[in-house]
Amino acid sequence: PEAIMVGELANRMSEKVADVVKALMQNGIMATQTQTIDADTAELIIEEFGHRVVRVSDSDVEQVIDTVDDKEEDMKPRPPVVTVMGHVDHGKTSVLDAIRNARVTAGEAGGITQHIGAYQVTTESGSVLTFLDTPGHAAFTSMRARGAQVTDIVVLVVAADDAVMPQTVEALNHAKAAGVPMIVAINKCDKPEANPDKVRTDLLQHEVIVEGLSGDVQDVEVSAITGQGLDELLEAIALQAEILELKANPDRAAQGAVIEAQLDVGRGPVATVLVEKGTLRQGDIFVVGEQWGKVRAMENDQGKRVKEAGPSVPVEVLGLNGTPEAGDVLNVVETEAQAREIAEYRQKAAKDKLAAAGAATTLDQLLAKA
Ligand code: GDP
Ligand code: MG
Repeated sequence: PEAIMVGELANRMSEKVADVVKALMQNGIMATQTQTIDADTAELIIEEFGHRVVRVSDSDVEQVIDTVDDKEEDMKPRPPVVTVMGHVDHGKTSVLDAIRNARVTAGEAGGITQHIGAYQVTTESGSVLTFLDTPGHAAFTSMRARGAQVTDIVVLVVAADDAVMPQTVEALNHAKAAGVPMIVAINKCDKPEANPDKVRTDLLQHEVIVEGLSGDVQDVEVSAITGQGLDELLEAIALQAEILELKANPDRAAQGAVIEAQLDVGRGPVATVLVEKGTLRQGDIFVVGEQWGKVRAMENDQGKRVKEAGPSVPVEVLGLNGTPEAGDVLNVVETEAQAREIAEYRQKAAKDKLAAAGAATTLDQLLAKA
C-alpha cells in the first residue's frame, strides 16, 4: 500500500503501537496511532523492526481504501435507490418514463432527454427517490455479482391484463435473495380487461402477500398511459424507504457504484456513478475497478454541471483514464500515485487470473489428448 495507519502497521508487525510511534519519532516523524504514514516511511520502520516488506494479497491494497469506519452520529438520511423489474412488456420502461415525465418540472424539460442511467424525482410530499433507469434483471444480477448491491427497493411491475409470468417470478426471487423489499405496481389498469385481483392471488402462490390480503407487501394499481396511481406508487416507495431508515455518511471520501460506462468519442471514457457514501467532488482522485481517474467534471441527471454529489445521487463522471464496467466500485483516494498503484495492481491481478485460467485450460487440453 501507498499509505498505512500507524496502528495498523504495528498490528501487522505484532509490535506495540507505542514502540512504533517511538521509532517514528526517532526518525523525526510525529504520528499517532490513527494517523497515516507513507509507504517509504512504513518500509523504513518495518526494516528497523527487523521485518521484511511483503505484499500479501488483494486485501493489502484494499486497506488503503476502506479505513474509515462511519460513526453512528455521522450517518444522515439518504434517498432510496429503486429498481423496476418485471416480465417483458408488462410496462417497466413505460412506468419509468411516466414517473420521470410526471415529476420532472417544465423548466427542467431538457432533463427528459438527458439519459444517464438513473434519475431522481421528488414526490408530492417532498421525498426524494432515486430510480435506476435500467429495467431488467441482468443489470440487477450483474451488479450484485460484482458486489455492488445498490438497490434498496424493487418495484415489481405486473400487467393487470396478463398474469404472473416467468420473469415476474425470476424478479421476485432476485429481490427475495437480495433481501430487498418489494412494492407491486399492478400496471395497465386502464385496460377494460384489467384484473388486478388476479395478479394479487397469483402472487400469493409465490409467497408475495399484498396488504389487502393481510400481507405486508404494498401494492398499487397504476397505469403508465393515463398516469393513474403513479403518485400513490411514489408515496408507497417513500413510505417503504422511511421504514428502512436508509442512512449514509456524506462527510467522507466518496464510494459509489458504476451504473453504466462507455467510451465517448468526444469526451473520452464516461461513467454514470451512483454515490453510495461520502460526497464525490470535482477534482477528487479515485480508483474504479481496474481504472483510475480524477473528476474533471460531473453532470447530474438533468444534464447540469454539478461540483459535488452526495449519497444516492447519480452523476455522470468525466476524467477517467479508461472505461470501467457496470457494477465496478469507485473509491476516492488521496493521491494519484495511490490510485494508479491500486488500478495497476488490479489490472495485473486480473491478467494473472486470466493467465492461470488459460494455463489450466491448456493443461486440461493436454490431459484430454493424452
Ligand atoms: P417493458 O418491456 O416491461 O419495458 O414494457 P414497455 O414499457 O415497453 O411496455 C410494453 C407495451 O405495453 C407497450 O406497447 C406500452 O405502450 C404498453 N403499456 C405499458 N404500460 C401500459 C399501461 O399502463 N396501459 C396500457 N394500456 N398499455 C401500457
Ligand atoms: Mg422495457
